[in-house]
Amino acid sequence: MAARRAVAQGRAGGARPPAMGPALGRRAPAPRAARAAGRGRAAGAVGVRAEADYYSTLGVGRGADKKAIKSAYRKLARKFHPDVNKEANAEQKFKEISNAYEVLSDDQKRSIYDRYGEAGLKGSAGFGGGGFGGAGMGDFSSPFDIFESFFGGGGGGFDGGMGGGMGGRGGRARAKGEDERYDLRLDFLEAVFGCEKEISISRMDKCATCTGSGVKPGTSPRACSTCGGSGQVISTVRTPIGTFQQAAICPNCNGAGQTNEGCAACGGDGRVKASKKISIRVPPGVDKDSRLRVRGEGNAGRQGGESGDLFVVISVKDDPDMLRDGVNVNSTATISYVDAILGTTVKVKTVDGPVDLQVPAGTQPGTTLLMAKRGVPRLGNNTLRGDHLVKVKVTIPTRPTSDEKKKVEEIKELTSKSGSWL
Ligand code: ZN
Repeated sequence: MAARRAVAQGRAGGARPPAMGPALGRRAPAPRAARAAGRGRAAGAVGVRAEADYYSTLGVGRGADKKAIKSAYRKLARKFHPDVNKEANAEQKFKEISNAYEVLSDDQKRSIYDRYGEAGLKGSAGFGGGGFGGAGMGDFSSPFDIFESFFGGGGGGFDGGMGGGMGGRGGRARAKGEDERYDLRLDFLEAVFGCEKEISISRMDKCATCTGSGVKPGTSPRACSTCGGSGQVISTVRTPIGTFQQAAICPNCNGAGQTNEGCAACGGDGRVKASKKISIRVPPGVDKDSRLRVRGEGNAGRQGGESGDLFVVISVKDDPDMLRDGVNVNSTATISYVDAILGTTVKVKTVDGPVDLQVPAGTQPGTTLLMAKRGVPRLGNNTLRGDHLVKVKVTIPTRPTSDEKKKVEEIKELTSKSGSWL
């Protein structure tokens, strides 16, 4: 959904400080209180003004038809609109014109007015003279902030037929592409030392036919048929507190004032779904849940907008013998009780391949031996490496042979004399 970039040009009542500059495209956040107040305002709150002759205000005869009234109103509204006309009485004049038009353009109100004059309209439901005649009268100089108060909720019930367009079609403007995620599973050693991977991704790619612009090749922009090139659409809106001339960014051209013939290949979006193979260099030291950002390889932007990024999320297969703990690697080595006593050399599977590890004589069960710098290169600084830690398990025979038993008993006798077993 596009942001509502609507702009109000007509305004009545309210307590907004004056002298805000023209603010085309400015968002007008509507305080909830203001919205509620506007909606809830009853016709009874209408202020009292001197009687006005609506026909002479618009410069039409009493028998003028709707078309003539509308045309007269438009001409005058353009002339006295506070945005255009900076003369001191322009605001007042504009209000009077709008007020007159509101009544004379409505058959029912006009008929009441014809019979009873302005007074006849005071009690008429839905007559929105309050904003023009009430307390807020002197504050017409900032006509820009009321718009969302009334129309932010989706524009229910105002004429001009713009309700659907305000937030809808505007969303097709040039925009940055979305980021994309790709899950990449690596072997244990690929994560340790890095690797080069070719991956196939499917995402929105720049349309080749229009080179991403969304414009049909060989065509040139035309003035927008909806707004006639102004980029704005103006409509008259009746609300509980008055009638407003309000302008909104043209929903057809997003305010650009011109439209292009859409590229047939991509429907004017500037991008098409496509699969692509890309090569990714995975640096040494990545671990599970590492995220690699590949700039510009996400979805292409709409109508030539910047591309999003591709995030490659790493997962790593387990190794049966080695367990990663950050930059360190853990494993176990199992030796016999005899080797534990006498010392031995064991082959340990490391990330560099099998490496001989000296197990000193008298190594206790559960001892951890360290193989320095046989671990994982540090991510981002490959000259630093972690260690490989080997925990020593010692096996003790559960069913020794009678010969073995005899020898152990001999040892027992020996040690009971020398005490060396302790
Ligand atoms: Zn295209």
